Amino acid sequence: MQIVKTIDEVRKTVKAWKREGLTVGLVPTMGYLHEGHKSLIERAVKENDRVVVSDFVNPTQFAPNEDFESYPRDIQADAALCADAGASLIFNPEADEMYTDALTFVDMNKITKVLCGKTRPIHFSGVCTVVSKLFNIVTPDRAYFGEKDAQQLCVIRKMVRDLNFDIEIVGCPIIREADGLAKSSRNTYLNEEERKAALCLNRALKLGREMAEGGETDAEKVVNAITAEIEKEPLAKIDYVEMVDLNTLEMLKTAEKPLLCAVAVYIGKTRLIDNFIME
Ligand code: AMP
Repeated sequence: MQIVKTIDEVRKTVKAWKREGLTVGLVPTMGYLHEGHKSLIERAVKENDRVVVSDFVNPTQFAPNEDFESYPRDIQADAALCADAGASLIFNPEADEMYTDALTFVDMNKITKVLCGKTRPIHFSGVCTVVSKLFNIVTPDRAYFGEKDAQQLCVIRKMVRDLNFDIEIVGCPIIREADGLAKSSRNTYLNEEERKAALCLNRALKLGREMAEGGETDAEKVVNAITAEIEKEPLAKIDYVEMVDLNTLEMLKTAEKPLLCAVAVYIGKTRLIDNFIME
């Protein structure tokens, strides 16, 4: 497995693969990889001849008050995980390689303004821009994204349709710790007490899912029950709890499939997200 830092090196390698008729999968990440990322890489390895993992903490998707500087980084450990999962190449550029004098950004309306977009107004423009650039650099046949970031997956699917990228987008299920907490690079920010408190996200979502699967059709009742369960946890501060249409991300009055029920909750200073999907 190679680790490369320049766009040129990625292009040369991918062109050589394509001349041999090989298919290419891309797994975009911000590094500090865990089992959640690994599940995406392993799926990509199964479905493609070669897999590129991008490992880049993308500055344009962080607002100045967010955790860009402190975001955890460990390229050695990432390389070991990628090699173990069967990836062929890690693209680990510096910010200058990706953004010298950039004046062009990819922006999207409506579905980037709700849920996480309300508290993170520039976030999805940064995501769409970096993912478009990665699509142009790697030219993959397929790209893999986790349902953990369900709004991101929805936004990327829409961007691919709107901008005619000839790339199949594959969504992959959420991987959790044994006690139910969704795996996340940001879980490293939690101290012992916060780590326990963070379990309220999954506990509340499980309750909500049981209600919806048990026939509760009033979306507000489900959202209220989830909210009440999270509010029992003194260290938790809710950013949002919402039930939306999985494709349009419009708020639902009736819990009709396909739906996304998503939460963002601060545990101390750490903002965690989680969700369930019913299709
Ligand atoms: P990140 O490094 O946080 O930008 O995540 C890179 C990709 O891994 C995104 O598509 C995420 O949705 C996905 N991902 C992160 N955590 C998980 C998880 N616990 N389960 C499944 N996919 C995940």
